[in-house]
Amino acid sequence: MSLLEVQGLEARYGLLSAVRGISFTVTKGEKLALVGANGAGKTTLLRTLAGVHPVARGRIVFDGADITSVSAHRRCASGIALVPEGRRLFPAMTVEENLLVARSARREGMWHLESVLEAFPQLKPKLKTLAGDLSGGQQQATAIARALMTNPRVLLLDEVSLGLSPLAVHAVYDSLGTLLKTKTAIVLVEQDLQRTLDVADRIICMLEGAIVAEGRSGEMTREQVVGHYFGTRPESTTQGATS
Ligand code: ATP
Repeated sequence: MSLLEVQGLEARYGLLSAVRGISFTVTKGEKLALVGANGAGKTTLLRTLAGVHPVARGRIVFDGADITSVSAHRRCASGIALVPEGRRLFPAMTVEENLLVARSARREGMWHLESVLEAFPQLKPKLKTLAGDLSGGQQQATAIARALMTNPRVLLLDEVSLGLSPLAVHAVYDSLGTLLKTKTAIVLVEQDLQRTLDVADRIICMLEGAIVAEGRSGEMTREQVVGHYFGTRPESTTQGATS
């Protein structure tokens, strides 16, 4: 049974439909990547799944329950966590305080302060540092660690490597290795296509708010994904293409 099911989802900014008729499922432990050019609707889709952007039409079902009108806080408490684009940490609070803030929505599970620090050892010496004083890579690590503190069943990761140096990206993905081996499902938005192909079990290509192709990552070539990314629609259609 799917853990997360999205049915005919639409999300808008005023008259603009940023997400249009999106349907897909995520199973327990699955790593799904959303790929598409700037403005394709990936961030809006993640925000809508997390409950921080309203659903204009369609349904979101999580673990068999309709959560379409459930608040972001309650979604988080039931196991959906978002690592937002731009990290959105509390800059005037320490790393430790940022991590502990997540306790109010915490589920039982393997992730607690000690285990997230094992996964993100670069944060250990920074626990008492203000989040605003961290490097970009350390901030991203803190944002992911904060989301893990809630023990999510689905982790929504938006633009993990955006604005980070190659070294920092490497460090963050090194730490994600532990997470990728767990049964936590991940919906990933990542501009680094090679990392996307390495990490994802399945890929959904989006264009102008809609799904234009989807398939298992091992069965989609880099060229096919790039073609859908730019909307050039390569001739060799991918598995399960919806248009
Ligand atoms: P990016 O990689 O640039 O973040 P994206 O695929 O995540 O792109 P979104 O950020 O979800 O795409 O944007 C989808 C559409 O919604 C775009 O046309 C964008 O201009 C528009 N949009 C995004 N945020 C807002 C906003 N706050 N107000 C109005 N329109 C918005």
